[in-house]
Amino acid sequence: MSQTTVTAASAAEVAAELRARRAFVMVSHVKPDGDTLGAGLALGIALKRLGKRVHYFQQDPVPRNLRFLPDAECVAGELPADLPDDALFVFCDMSDAARAGERLPAITRDNMLDIDHHLGNAMFGRLNFVLPSECSTGTVVMHLMRELGVEIDARIATCLLTTIMTDTGGFMHSNTTPAVLELSAELMRCGADKEAITEQIFLNKRVAATRLLAKIVDVMQFAHDNRYCYSYVDDTMLAQTGADGEDTEDTVNVLRGQEGVEVAALFKAYDGEIRVSLRSNGSVNVQAAAHRLGGGGHFRAAGLTFAGSLSDAIAAVDAALVAQGL
Ligand code: 5GP
Ligand code: MN
Repeated sequence: MSQTTVTAASAAEVAAELRARRAFVMVSHVKPDGDTLGAGLALGIALKRLGKRVHYFQQDPVPRNLRFLPDAECVAGELPADLPDDALFVFCDMSDAARAGERLPAITRDNMLDIDHHLGNAMFGRLNFVLPSECSTGTVVMHLMRELGVEIDARIATCLLTTIMTDTGGFMHSNTTPAVLELSAELMRCGADKEAITEQIFLNKRVAATRLLAKIVDVMQFAHDNRYCYSYVDDTMLAQTGADGEDTEDTVNVLRGQEGVEVAALFKAYDGEIRVSLRSNGSVNVQAAAHRLGGGGHFRAAGLTFAGSLSDAIAAVDAALVAQGL
């Protein structure tokens, strides 16, 4: 491969790289969501159709609500032993490579392709195809599909519509532009199974999840003239309800949706770490607040992992949000 340089790549350059390589590992981030996984699966299916060898690496298991995705059964938590040295690792939907998790072996930058839509992407690949104006990494991938001339079949369309519906919150967030709706219509015409996406990702909640939501709502707090709402979930609450981390996915949106609330935080204090989900109505840049504490994301949706106690996490996040104008 060519020498190591960091560039913002064009779709044509990335497509040329994809055509040149024979083997691929599509990589999704820890605590995967429908965007990181759907984007990788869509591009992986397309590359297989071009005759390429494709693997999927994801440190965490596929969440229950994403197991319906085409090829989800091919996702593995380790790399195949016979992977060629020039296999291209395609990182989808992550602002830095560490988001792939510590179980992914170190990879030379020459073999890293970074496909993303986050603000403040670290441009960690040799090629970086990062379009922050796109609503999802899946729609970033659509640019590559067009460049590659791959026809979008029903399986690819379902994966791509999943990325859009995940990252627009079912067409509710402000990133739902007319163009996004047009792309979604195009994907439905290609056979995307919108019914399955709605049912599996947005409905179909476990009773344990709803009981956990009740506990989280029970301990929610309001601050800053009720413009800020935050709550937490810990190991005890999970044990009491029989829920697990996957069941907390939507909860921060419930907090953000309370009357008058502009910013919400959910502190996920279980499994020996504290991860924080932040959401904003657009008045406060939560990506900038998360970035102060080592995390990242988007203007209205961001996250971070905090080293310390729950009360320290709550205080640190409060200070970071205030510094961003809360
Ligand atoms: P969520 O709250 O749904 O876990 O994440 C919201 C957004 O923030 C997503 O775009 C996600 O990729 C990003 N995000 C969450 N946690 C982290 C983190 O620890 N580091 C970075 N860089 N981004 C994060
Ligand atoms: Mn995304």
